[in-house]
Amino acid sequence: MPKTTETVLEINLKSLEHNYNYLRSKINASTKLLSVVKAFAYGSDAVKVAEKLEKLGVDYFAVAYAAEGVSLRKAGIKTPILVLHPQVANFDALIKHNLEPSIYSKRILDTFIEIAEKQDQKEYPVHLKFNTGLNRLGFNESDIDYIVEQVQADKPLKITSILSHLAASEDLNEKDFTLNQIDAFKKITSEIDKKLGYKPFKHLLNTSGIINYATEAQFDMVRTGIGMYGYGNDAIVDNELKPIATLKTIISQIHTIEPNQSVGYNRAYVATKKTVTATLPIGHADGIDRIYGNGKSYVLVNDKKVPIIGNVCMDMMMINITGIKCYEGDEVIVFGQDNSAEELAISAKTISYELLTGISQRVKRVFTNG
Ligand SMILES: *Cc1c(COP(=O)(O)O)cnc(C)c1O
Repeated sequence: MPKTTETVLEINLKSLEHNYNYLRSKINASTKLLSVVKAFAYGSDAVKVAEKLEKLGVDYFAVAYAAEGVSLRKAGIKTPILVLHPQVANFDALIKHNLEPSIYSKRILDTFIEIAEKQDQKEYPVHLKFNTGLNRLGFNESDIDYIVEQVQADKPLKITSILSHLAASEDLNEKDFTLNQIDAFKKITSEIDKKLGYKPFKHLLNTSGIINYATEAQFDMVRTGIGMYGYGNDAIVDNELKPIATLKTIISQIHTIEPNQSVGYNRAYVATKKTVTATLPIGHADGIDRIYGNGKSYVLVNDKKVPIIGNVCMDMMMINITGIKCYEGDEVIVFGQDNSAEELAISAKTISYELLTGISQRVKRVFTNG
């Protein structure tokens, strides 16, 4: 890749392939792999990522909301798409584009059946989401009889799969809690299998679940998001994965300032000695929040770590390049292979998921295959 001349998020589709193969190697050959491409494929590019994964043979996609699935369909994606958190307002669009809802409550079940029947749908594929301890979305075990009764009446729906979600799959201090979730899921799914008269496929694990619980709870499919993008919530796994996204920018202007001169809004940085600063065309509107400023976090200039100084502005931020050999126009790496989004996120007491998905749509996405 030639050096960038503006702020870009570079997406490496070869690294995506590497991560896909790595995650596949962690599960049985017969286990299906679902790739979670919600939130623009964790801030990268949902269409490009889905196209690549479809070519690699991924079994399923998941998005959070119907509109995300509609845009994948409009781009020609044919693989089944699970909508994790559908809203009643989008049920018509969801059916029109052959998207498969996760049904998580009686309200959602009743309304979806009503709309499916109005549209003369028979055996429309849906997925049942159960709450096994996260207490976020999902039916409880006591809802099973109600669900089975509703779906068996005129068979407007076909239960394609049953899922739940782990609360602490990355935290081995919570292993007992996770094993309880796994047991609860087994109990729920076997009860449904009996009462329904057919066997929907089952899935529970996210990326850290695959890493930590593939033996206990692989079931028929696993759902991976962050791992596909190169982060594993674990230092050892992080060494095996390759971050697909590199956030690059350039030095717009260099200033030399004298002691007691300040940099940026509210004079948040005040020089104690002669200091050389560089201004970068990237700010909090691009997803680098103010929390990363004032010396908390670093970027790479010609392979050297330099701190972000002063308050991050909307469209710019400043770094301290005193003693670093660099020029206006030089490339700056905000995060990537060598200074990972995970490290940068930790400097702001957050997680890679938040930093990655927060890179705004103003930042141009570019793609590489090498
Ligand atoms: C986002 C999400 C995932 C993916 O989790 P990762 O930790 O990114 O692998 C899996 N399942 C559900 C229900 C999700 O909401």
